[in-house]
Amino acid sequence: MPTLEPTAVPVALSTPQPIRMSRVFAPTLKEDPVDAEVASHRLLVRAAMIRKVASGVYSFLPLGYRVLQKVERIVREEMEAIGCQELRMPIIQPAELWHESGRWSDYGPELFRLDDRHGHSFALAPTHEELVTFLVRNELRSYRELPQSLFHVTNKYRDEIRPRFGLLRAREFIMKDAYSFHATKDDLQATYDDMSRAYGRICERLGLAYRPVEADSGQIGGKVTCEFMALAEAGEAEIAYCDCGFAANTEVAEARIRPLAHEADALEKLHTPIEGTIAALAAFLKVPEAATVKALAVKAPEGAVSVLFVPGDHELGEVKADHAIPGLDFLTDEEMLEAGLVKGYVGPVGLPEGVRVVADDSLRDVARWVVGANEAAYHYLGAAPGTDFTVDAWAPLARAQEGDRCPVCGNLLRFARGIEVGQVFQLGTKYSESMNARYMDEEGREQPFVMGCYGWGVTRSLAAVVEQHNDEGGIVWPLAVAPAEVAVLPLVVGDDEVGPAAERIAAGLAAEGVEVAIDDRTERAGVKFNDADLVGWPYQVVVGRRGLEAGEVELKDRRSGEKQLLPLDGIVVRIATMLKEARPHAHS
Ligand code: ATP
Ligand code: MG
Repeated sequence: MPTLEPTAVPVALSTPQPIRMSRVFAPTLKEDPVDAEVASHRLLVRAAMIRKVASGVYSFLPLGYRVLQKVERIVREEMEAIGCQELRMPIIQPAELWHESGRWSDYGPELFRLDDRHGHSFALAPTHEELVTFLVRNELRSYRELPQSLFHVTNKYRDEIRPRFGLLRAREFIMKDAYSFHATKDDLQATYDDMSRAYGRICERLGLAYRPVEADSGQIGGKVTCEFMALAEAGEAEIAYCDCGFAANTEVAEARIRPLAHEADALEKLHTPIEGTIAALAAFLKVPEAATVKALAVKAPEGAVSVLFVPGDHELGEVKADHAIPGLDFLTDEEMLEAGLVKGYVGPVGLPEGVRVVADDSLRDVARWVVGANEAAYHYLGAAPGTDFTVDAWAPLARAQEGDRCPVCGNLLRFARGIEVGQVFQLGTKYSESMNARYMDEEGREQPFVMGCYGWGVTRSLAAVVEQHNDEGGIVWPLAVAPAEVAVLPLVVGDDEVGPAAERIAAGLAAEGVEVAIDDRTERAGVKFNDADLVGWPYQVVVGRRGLEAGEVELKDRRSGEKQLLPLDGIVVRIATMLKEARPHAHS
């Protein structure tokens, strides 16, 4: 055994030390990673914040981890500010709990599953409704103990069909998830409102431009729900919104759609020797696509075949379609043949026996439709619902798009793309009923808990910050989440003046409570400038030989690019004071 020499390193440092770039594991890259399609993915890798391990699985390097911890801290503070308590639940969860809720099958292939050596099955948690319900069900017993609001910040696992965009859609990611338990819906509403406000504050503190939008509740369940969208072109979500205040994910957005009626005033069969697409049909008939009707053949899980009809110029909204026929799937070419449907020419008149017609609500007002004739190269003009065919069900099916109007005020809708950074849900009693989690009410009767759940994507929101805050030089971190607030850049190393002056400034700033890095590497000035911009330190203090001779250093503001020469004398106090003013205050 080697004997351990006593060292001079104190056990705990009284003042925080500057980050030494010569020592930090931060291998920045000149080249973009080949798989990076969006700015946050590109820049987080190049700035040495993250590294890919496998598709949708990433490590955080030391600088990235500092940012991550700051994002987490902001999220924690906002949860604590509304009385939500932190705990910690496991990621490995017994399959039995997921069977109880029904989600062992409902969650599908996105759920990571594993077996232990005894053959017991487990899920890697994609979310924690089951676990938290299990946790409280025999321990929270009386209305007197309600409400309760709990959260944790842990890894989540989802075997996404298309992991991409770096941290934005990963398979392992960090979520803050909170769950609340109530005796009444009103009480749930109060916590839901608190959470929504907390999410707004988190966005503001992260420097995110955002919009809360009406949304779909997907796998989670419940009806009342809202997504928090960070506005960004790279976002996978599309938002329809209006100045009147209406805003919704286009997956669910109701819109006033005005399809056009065809001028034909009776049913007329027409030979249409064209490719079976809407564009070809509209061109052939010389009518707008909105005057045609699009048909999509689908099947329900138990096999029943339906044809969905939407205005010809609109796309089918898949989430809306799934609400109309839960679990639906599109028919393959073979299945269409089997069902007696002619691809490209499907229409509501003369459909095979047993095939249901489900049409978009907007088509109710359209007296005569242009539709396929269920025969190759033939269409019907002037097909009238109610007369020439029966619509078995009307439902919202079409996806809102440019040109559609606001369902609230009727003005033209506007559209933007967004990254869903958080979502709040009023679950109601979905999990408490299925998992039998009950409390005793005032009259001594057993009641299922009324529940809410509230997810925040910690790693996704970190990437969203980068999407909104970058330029051609690299990341432009908001002060609140930057890996450090100031970087000191000595332009030459080994020089009698420059190195020591830079060290004094860095140590002085650290002593003033400023988070500081010093680029003490033996690199050329150009490399240090480029890396400082890439990593995105909010402020850079540039220390050069010529400046020192004049008693000056340069201060660069990363965001504005503005540079100013400041006297070396008093520089530490000056920057420390400036930062005190610039720092956002959490709850002042
Ligand atoms: P999406 O629709 O983008 O797949 P989701 O609606 O399934 O997300 P939720 O179940 O609402 O996600 O999870 C709560 C939060 O977790 C989301 O708002 C998002 O910020 C984050 N999140 C979800 N899936 C991922 C993922 N694959 N990678 C990173 N963050 C994610
Ligand atoms: Mg969601």
